[in-house]
This record gives sequence, structure tokens and C-alpha cells, in this order.
Amino acid sequence: MQALRKKILKIHQLLVDAYGDPPRPRLDPVSELVSTILSQNTNDTLRDRAYDRLRERYPTWEQVRDAPVRQIEKAIRVCGLSRQKAPRIKKALQHVTRERGALTLDFLRDLPVDEARQWLMSIDGVGPKTAAIVLLFSLNKPAFPVDTHVHRVTGRLGLIPPRASAEKAHVILEELVPAELYLPFHLNVIVHGREVCHARKPQCHACVLRRLCRYYAEVIRPQTRVPSVPRVPTAGTQGTQGTQGADLMIETWA
Ligand code: SF4
Repeated sequence: MQALRKKILKIHQLLVDAYGDPPRPRLDPVSELVSTILSQNTNDTLRDRAYDRLRERYPTWEQVRDAPVRQIEKAIRVCGLSRQKAPRIKKALQHVTRERGALTLDFLRDLPVDEARQWLMSIDGVGPKTAAIVLLFSLNKPAFPVDTHVHRVTGRLGLIPPRASAEKAHVILEELVPAELYLPFHLNVIVHGREVCHARKPQCHACVLRRLCRYYAEVIRPQTRVPSVPRVPTAGTQGTQGTQGADLMIETWA
């Protein structure tokens, strides 16, 4: 555990050196909830376009809540899966109003993080990732969101056990990453996943994390190593394995 925590600090620093300290997102919790629903299975540009169109057409969330699903669907069509997302958004806004008597999530600020998480996850279609995003981004609560990039990159780096589910990864990474680093670590790992550690062809040769990466050590490096010239054993010595693994720092989940 201690070794993994140290490794995370090193990774964090390398990512900050590469991508900078990311700014905090600035949406209120209801807006963040809607934006996160819109972001499912699409990219940030299309999510933002759908969000802006929705806000142009309906300046308040009460208007979205009361609008016909078909109209919501039309407004957000650009981001894809609008047939699923439109009713999900409407139902979520109705849920908050029904439970709280008003369309606000500000009360979550006063709840312990696990209670706030459970409250959000009681909304139909809100899972651990969406709940953690709202909690971390809008309410400054210590929750660590795991999206597809974070799941893939932390898996390759060896920060989570092989085959750990995304759900399990939330729990593990919340324990391993220092709470004050949740936001920059989460956002920079996503950038790294998008720009370098691609799902299909990770650009390991250009990766600032390769000396810390399990996948690099176990899969990529053995393929690229130039065979060392066998040494002639001298009196009192055996043959040597050369420098294999000596420059890697790859503590991973046992
Ligand atoms: Fe991803 Fe390769 Fe970098 Fe590891 S070395 S984090 S697999 S790009």
C-alpha cells in the first residue's frame, strides 16, 4: 500500500509537469449532474454543445424538468443517445424535486460524503462515476470518479488489481490517492488517457509514465529490448542478466 501511494505521488507530479494543474470545473451540482448524464458515451465537445443548446432552449432546470421528453431529446440530439439521455435527465430532475421540494442539490454539502453518494445513487441512472463527479466537481467532497480512461490507465499502471471492475476501482483509488489530489489526479489521468495511453494503441514510447508502468514493464519493454551480448563467465562469477528491470520502478497491486 505504502509503495503504491508513493508511486501515485510520482505519477501525479509527472502528470502535472506534462499537463499542468487543471482548473476546477465550475458548475452547480444540478448542472453538473445534467452535464455528466450528457457526457455518457460522447466527447466533451459534443457534450458541451448539447448542454449549451439545452440551456438556450430552457434557461432554468425547472423548465427542462417540465418540458416534454421529445423536446429535450431534440435539444440534446447532437451528443448522441438522446433517446436514453432525455428521459434520464427529466426523471433525475423530477426525482430531486419530489424528494427535496425544490430543484437543488446544495443540501448535499452538509451530508457526509458516503451519505451524499448514496443519495445521488438513489436517482435512476446515476452510478458511482456520476455521483463522484457531482460530489468532487461541484461540492468539493472527497469522492474519486473512475471513468473509462481512469479505469484503463490506472489498470495499466498497476494501481488497481488486474481485472478490478470500475466500481471496485472507485473504492481502491479513493483509498490510495490523497484526497487533496483527487481532482487534479482524476483530470490529468483522463488527459493522459486521451492523448497518450489510448485504448487500442498506447503511445508508450512517448509516455512520461513508462518507468512506473506495469504494462510497459511486462508487455512493451520485453518486446523492444535489444538482446544483450552474453558475457563470458570469469572465475568466481556466473553469467549476468545485465540491467533487466533495474531502471523501472513498477510497484503494483500484488
Ligand atoms: Fe499507458 Fe504505455 Fe504510458 Fe503505460 S507506458 S501509461 S501503457 S502509454
